[in-house]
Amino acid sequence: MLRFITLCLSLFLGLTVLSYGQNKYDKVEIKTIPVGDGIYMLQGAGGNIGISTGEDGVLMIDDQFSPLTQKILDAIAKISDKPVKFLINTHWHGDHTGGNENLGKMGVVIVAHDNVYRRMSKDQVIKAFNMKSPPAPKAALPVITFNDQVNFHFNAMEIHVHHIKNAHTDGDSILIFKDRNIIHTGDIFFNGFYPFIDSRTGGSIYGMIKATAIILKHSDDKTKIIPGHGPLANKQDLQNFHDMLVQVVEAVTPLAQKGLSLEEATKQDPLKDLNAKWGGGFFSPEKFLGTIYQTILDHK
Ligand SMILES: [Zn+2]
Repeated sequence: MLRFITLCLSLFLGLTVLSYGQNKYDKVEIKTIPVGDGIYMLQGAGGNIGISTGEDGVLMIDDQFSPLTQKILDAIAKISDKPVKFLINTHWHGDHTGGNENLGKMGVVIVAHDNVYRRMSKDQVIKAFNMKSPPAPKAALPVITFNDQVNFHFNAMEIHVHHIKNAHTDGDSILIFKDRNIIHTGDIFFNGFYPFIDSRTGGSIYGMIKATAIILKHSDDKTKIIPGHGPLANKQDLQNFHDMLVQVVEAVTPLAQKGLSLEEATKQDPLKDLNAKWGGGFFSPEKFLGTIYQTILDHK
């Protein structure tokens, strides 16, 4: 079990591909989940991929890890006979951009927020996982970047890509398939478990609360929501996640206001009422608290 959790953690951010080698990815199967209107969610290892198929070709949202690119393309070939034309990265993390170089070399146009380009162009460190990410090769970098919003007119629909400030990172985008009632949230939403919030690259639990509230406003009871991680979701799932984040802040803030250290705060077990429901994902409750406590201390 421990080995499984360790593997999940590493696959999650995908910054240790070399140390695991190709064979760990050999066992990964790509599952294709129809969402509606030619839109699909692909699951393998890493962030959930969104796919739009139709007469204009394939538009892809995120691309997991480099060793999985061929399997992902094989899965796409089963739902479309057209080429991948665009790839949109919801943020810079390696479990969402690992296939960029392969796809960029095939001529796929990569699109992302300005800060995704900025982060991928330089060394990055993710302290929570003790991982270093070197600058990406040129072919992996976005060729079109935007600062606020960009719209695609593709496959007979409008796809709106909105930047949301300082939530999971400082370069997050959500995608709204207009008039189709489908949203891809990137890692602003982890469906069913505590999220990773990358405060080192501009993320914040307060930003996550605001961002999830914005996505809720774009949703109704029929909206289908592709989360960054976890199963396909609906508005209630997102509402539960949003409410959990609010409860986390409410439970932890008094401890920060008392000036407790992380160690002292951890001993008080402030998330005990939430752990049974939310603590079964990538992060143990202690680890999750460790990733958010400094932000709450700074904010109190
Ligand atoms: Zn992420």
